[in-house]
Parts: sequence; C-alpha cells; structure tokens
Amino acid sequence: MRYSSLSSGSEGNALLVEAGPAGAPVRILVDCGLGLRDVQERLAQRGLAPSDLHLIFVTHEHADHCAGVAKLARACELPVACTHGTLVAMGAEALAGLTVLTVSPHRSIDFMGLSLEPIPVPHDAREPVALAVSDQKHRMAVVTDLGSYTPHLISCLQGLDAIFLEFNHDAQMLEEGSYPPKLKSRVGGPHGHLSNVTAAELLGRLLSARLQHITAAHLSQQNNHPDRVRASVAGLPLGQACFEVASQDHGMPWVSLA
Ligand SMILES: [Zn+2]
Ligand SMILES: [Zn+2]
Repeated sequence: MRYSSLSSGSEGNALLVEAGPAGAPVRILVDCGLGLRDVQERLAQRGLAPSDLHLIFVTHEHADHCAGVAKLARACELPVACTHGTLVAMGAEALAGLTVLTVSPHRSIDFMGLSLEPIPVPHDAREPVALAVSDQKHRMAVVTDLGSYTPHLISCLQGLDAIFLEFNHDAQMLEEGSYPPKLKSRVGGPHGHLSNVTAAELLGRLLSARLQHITAAHLSQQNNHPDRVRASVAGLPLGQACFEVASQDHGMPWVSLA
C-alpha cells in the first residue's frame, strides 16, 4: 500500500491511496476539493492520470473536500462513495447519472478487494466520516475534519500501519489571530477542527509498534506552523514511526508502507 496527498488544507483536499496486489493496484481518491486541471497536474507529478483512479470517496460535503468531485467523476466515469447525509448535503442532482455507492458510517464495504471502513466523526457537516482502508497487508486511515475524538473513533483506529491525521491549528495562534470571534469558536469547538494538542493526544492513544507512518494534515495556513505541529508531538513515544507534515501547495510525496 502507498499513498500521497495531492493537497491538504482548507483550500482543497485530495488524498490518493493505492492498495491491493502490485499487478493490479486499486486507487482511491479520498476527497476532491481541487479543480480538474489541478488534479491532472498533481496526479501527473505522481506518475498517474485521472483515468488510473477507480473511486472517489467523499468524507463530507464541505467545499474543500467535494468541490471537484462531480467534474472529476464525470470526466473519468468514476463511481463516488459517500454517506447518505453527505450525498443529500452535496445535492444528489450534482451527481446525477453517476454511480454513487451510499455507505453506512457504521459498516465497512468491500471495493475491488479493499476494505473501506467509514467511521463517524464530530464535525459540523451532515454525516461526516473518517475512512480506514485495508488490503491484505496494510491498514491506513484518513482522519481530517473533526473537532474532537470519541471512544468509538479511538477503538476503530487501533492496529493501523499509517495515519493521515488533522493537526489543524495551534490553539494560541487561533485565539490571538485575526479570525472573527464566531469563526474562532467554530474552528476551535468540538465540531470544528483538531488543535495540535488534541491531535497529539489522540495520536498518543493510537501508537503501536505497527504504526510506521504518521502524516499531520489539514494545517491552517493562518493559525498553525509545521514547527508548532512538530513541537506538539515531541513528548510522544513515536519510536521508529516516521512523522511528516502535508502542505496545501504540495500535499506530500508518495509514502510506501513496508
Ligand atoms: Zn476541510
Ligand atoms: Zn469540513
């Protein structure tokens, strides 16, 4: 299994996961908040074309995750998977004529031999989910856009080889920054986005000898800095696990799981 972020942050998200047998890999794009040309360019930088994708999985209806979904799906006749709530909130007509797999946030589905496991998260959208993807060898999870974590989330995220986890803001930078008060309380609230401290706390509950790669994702460009993110995990026993930070402009290069 390998994965690469095309872009991560409030201006657009797209994460590519490639898994399954080496001879016949299955490629899932988790979220698409980028325009078609950006997706094409960023896939090309990673040696792929949109026609190499097999599915777009949409975690929730916020524009930074779904703005480019319908165009990409139509251009390549790709199926789209999302919860019923996300579909309704996106507007089912936006996906009219496309194949839509409606998933339950409490049941995994098999997609071309991969297991896709949606997990409910506290976020201010209709029916938002995180997603764990497994093949025969590895299990990774995409966990962005949540304001807090639940016991259910912690239990679903045990036994991962890799995690792509939101470290949205530094609480002090958010507090002292220029956002209007209402936006500050939305972002910092339990249905907003994870602060560095909360993300590090959650990560601390997920550490295991098996966890080999951690990516900090969805950083706020105004209210965070990679140095603050790194400082927030400095006290965690990460062991051999590699810790990286994804960016809005470049996402991150391929990470291949051993
Ligand atoms: Zn987002
Ligand atoms: Zn969101």
